[in-house]
Amino acid sequence: MKTVIGLEIHNQLASESKLFCACPTKGYRTAPANSLICPSCLSQPGSKPWGINAKAVGNVLKIALALNCKIILDKPVFVQRKHYIYPDLASGYQRTSKPIGENGELAGVKIREVHVEEDPGQYDLRTGEVNYNRSGVPLVEIVTDPDFTSADHARRFLEELSAILDYLGARRSEPGSMRVDANISIEGHPRIEVKNINSFKGVLTALTFEEARQKNLVKHGAQYGQETRHFDEKRGITIGLRKKESVDDYRYFPDPDVPPMVIGEKLVEKIRRGLPELPAQKRERFVRHYNVTGEEAFAICLEKEYADAFEEIAKDGGAKQAANFMRGVVKKQLNYRDLAYRDSKLTVKTISELLAMLEKKEITEKVAEKLLIDFLDKGLDPRKNAEKEGLLGIHGSQELEAIVERVISENKKPVEDFRKGKAEALHFLAGQVMKLTKGKASPREVKEMLEKRLK
Ligand SMILES: [Zn+2]
Repeated sequence: MKTVIGLEIHNQLASESKLFCACPTKGYRTAPANSLICPSCLSQPGSKPWGINAKAVGNVLKIALALNCKIILDKPVFVQRKHYIYPDLASGYQRTSKPIGENGELAGVKIREVHVEEDPGQYDLRTGEVNYNRSGVPLVEIVTDPDFTSADHARRFLEELSAILDYLGARRSEPGSMRVDANISIEGHPRIEVKNINSFKGVLTALTFEEARQKNLVKHGAQYGQETRHFDEKRGITIGLRKKESVDDYRYFPDPDVPPMVIGEKLVEKIRRGLPELPAQKRERFVRHYNVTGEEAFAICLEKEYADAFEEIAKDGGAKQAANFMRGVVKKQLNYRDLAYRDSKLTVKTISELLAMLEKKEITEKVAEKLLIDFLDKGLDPRKNAEKEGLLGIHGSQELEAIVERVISENKKPVEDFRKGKAEALHFLAGQVMKLTKGKASPREVKEMLEKRLK
């Protein structure tokens, strides 16, 4: 049973004002409810939309070009009204443009189209409160072909897409600004739309759940039709909402109050020339120039600020070690805290300091990780912390030799086993040494010392 998944991705665009009026977008989440509104974004009788926000459209063009789309040039691109009745829409319709770019491609996935639209307001189902501060905030919508065959494939794609949007500086990058709707079906069976997925983890959970649910229905020969389901992030499940609207239900038609956009080649060329180095190009350059692995480059380049930090460290040498450490230990601790590098207290200086201590073999990777954790959680300076806690390494020292001797004399049986050719016995002995050094010795050095001593 083959799974078929397509994605519709919405992301708020970087823009100081809303799409069809001058109301600010900054701080709309924290401002008092309904304080950032005007007659236009509320569609009050007699109000008209202002001209479309050129900066928002420019950002959509950047995105479309970065996704290798063909831009719709020199012909009118209409803004349509998409009708539905829900308290989050004051006007009863959402303004959404026809495609600005089409037929793109990213990481082997076809991008069907990219367009601009306005965010609706927010309706709280529990309290019944409506807040229109978000109403009219510019959004990009990116629609893919159903080219994904698994939840993990979709998640990886979104990571890459998300990195591109950040590199372009084209979106609001606060958490929750990306929202994903997914169409998922078992080949030859009805298509289910899952709405309200707000995180990469959510994509994985929602699609894994939905795939299993549909496969189960198919296996038992159950009849089911197209429907829209809501993802409940807390419970990790999807819940049936309603039969899916067909395109006709939305009664799309061109908004008579908004003149169509016409995008000229000159503007597109100017934007194309201004595009920054994108993640894929940066990865390729890192692999070529710094000799790091593709996997290391992928992990490091997901966040531009992190990639820049790597490059600053690597240009003075030690790129291999830096890549290994930043892809492994550092990334693990950041991910564990659900923290981006730019939002953490980490700096190039801190990472370099840890790397320098590693390089001089003053600490092991295990100790480096502990120092990093103390830095992230308590703000402790790594070197001062290492000195204070007595974590600076014991290697090749008399202290280490004494510990090795002690372990050998206290573990007669494993020593004998090793001499008889039982290789695992050495792991046990090395483990005992590591325990006594509280992890401050290098495991490789300990193993070598033991081998030398026992042969
Ligand atoms: Zn407004």
